[in-house]
Amino acid sequence: MNVQTQIDTTTSPRTTEHFDVLIAGAGISGVGAAYHLTTQCPGTSFVALEAQKTFGGTWTTHRYPGIRSDSDLHTFGYRFKPWTTAPIASAAEILKYMGDVIEENDLAPHIRYQHTITSAKWSSEENLWTIEATRTDTGEQLRFTTNFFWMCQGYYRHTEGYTPEWKDMAKFKGPIIHPQKWPEDLDYKNKRVIVIGSGATAATLIPAMANDCAHVTMLQRSPTYFRTGRNAIEIAEELRKLQVDEIWIHEITRRKILFDQDAFSRKTFEEPEAAKKDLLSAVEAYLGKDYDIATHFTPKYRPWRQRIAFIPDGDLFQGIKSGKASVVTDEIDRFTEKGILLKSGKELEADIIVTATGFHLCANGDIEFAIDGKPLDFADTVTYRGMMFTGVPNLVWVFGYFRASWTLRVDLVADFVCRLLTHMKETGAKKVTPQLRPEDHNMPLLPWIDPENFNPGYMMRGMHLLPKRGEKPEWQHNQDYWAEKDEFPAIDLKDKAFVYG
Ligand SMILES: Cc1cc2nc3c(=O)[nH]c(=O)nc-3n(C[C@H](O)[C@H](O)[C@H](O)COP(=O)(O)OP(=O)(O)OC[C@H]3O[C@@H](n4cnc5c(N)ncnc54)[C@H](O)[C@@H]3O)c2cc1C
Repeated sequence: MNVQTQIDTTTSPRTTEHFDVLIAGAGISGVGAAYHLTTQCPGTSFVALEAQKTFGGTWTTHRYPGIRSDSDLHTFGYRFKPWTTAPIASAAEILKYMGDVIEENDLAPHIRYQHTITSAKWSSEENLWTIEATRTDTGEQLRFTTNFFWMCQGYYRHTEGYTPEWKDMAKFKGPIIHPQKWPEDLDYKNKRVIVIGSGATAATLIPAMANDCAHVTMLQRSPTYFRTGRNAIEIAEELRKLQVDEIWIHEITRRKILFDQDAFSRKTFEEPEAAKKDLLSAVEAYLGKDYDIATHFTPKYRPWRQRIAFIPDGDLFQGIKSGKASVVTDEIDRFTEKGILLKSGKELEADIIVTATGFHLCANGDIEFAIDGKPLDFADTVTYRGMMFTGVPNLVWVFGYFRASWTLRVDLVADFVCRLLTHMKETGAKKVTPQLRPEDHNMPLLPWIDPENFNPGYMMRGMHLLPKRGEKPEWQHNQDYWAEKDEFPAIDLKDKAFVYG
């Protein structure tokens, strides 16, 4: 770090700090980026600026009862740090794991909390990004310059969740709560609760609250697929019995999980009806033949068109079976003083309503971007493999996987960035800008993701904010870990898609 300039005004930042790399965010992606920089690019100066008071991102923001992962921690954990307990983990366990990574690798001095990045401006004259940030504790304005901007700010807005506008919401007498803003002191003991939503958040909240509430109702417009089973990975248990080293257990278990997930993913495309049957029979094993699985747990879409959450030990279904929780599949007509009137005419009464209705997609971390004085709209760019953007120099965004754990891509993108930075150092290049090659010019440009492939609500609502995708693998985020694990290390840094300067 060095202090470059002194600007003596009260409104502008007084100093500018320079770093070789600046990371936005200290979630699982930002901490991973910091680790890989220290190990693969030693000597590189870097800082991570994080808006919140601590690291963790998603796992710090969400504090609702029961908050846990919906994918296994052998693959949601980093490849370099073994996960040694049950695969589905609570937010507290994930934060402990991330805290250990920070401590063991001395990353804390590189992370600054309560620093919200507000703008990022690229200058081709200086080959630098100027990053402005606000300290949320003091209001101080800070300025940084960096050669390379590594965006690890996630994919949704952390400051507020998405709640649709329903008629007469104001009439409801009780609290209406979005899980992203869970009040610490919310007392739901012996209360009647409606959770609106059918995704992983609803499926986590319901079993966590069911024992304390008078009753909890999951109100969904349409059903979602879930996977269920024991919260354990057999092969990890076996290897542990044999006292195999945890580093080996982590690697072998990852390979087994990824092998099985690959087979399952393929099945959803090649034999969707068989895949559907597998998923539904697991639900039936918990709920019994008499339960109306056709109405409440049989989605209309092909499996994997939306994320499939894992329900450990079938706890959601056990809650329903016990009668403490129930599912209503219907549409909301309007809110009433006492609860919710459904389109079927039935009224559901409640003391508390929880809107587990998702996120606001946020592609740029609410950062104002400009290139040489011209405002940058990412929707005008084409993505290079879902991580770089045409016309945007020295910038990478980490957008993980939906059908596999997000973090698998954190490690893959980091390997690529570190290789790219080393290549630039060796060749003396100051900037790299992705650009469509002559052979790409007639390529049709499409939305970021094909809705036939993956179509959760937040994606559909926010697609217009995202960069474009091309038809070729280089110009899309194909959500295919099994292809990218081989393709990424083989990326030719001399390809014409990279313009150096
Ligand atoms: C409840 C929930 C459960 C999930 N479970 C799983 C799961 O089990 N498996 C899985 O693979 N995926 C899961 N996901 C998806 C999940 O978000 C990602 O897997 C992963 O946590 C994202 O990590 P990240 O570091 O990229 O982003 P985030 O966790 O979103 O962290 C980004 C960080 O950047 C900070 N930031 C944003 N903008 C700025 C700015 N302008 N200036 C400074 N800092 C900024 C934020 O404060 C935040 O701390 C889940 C998502 C949610 C919401």
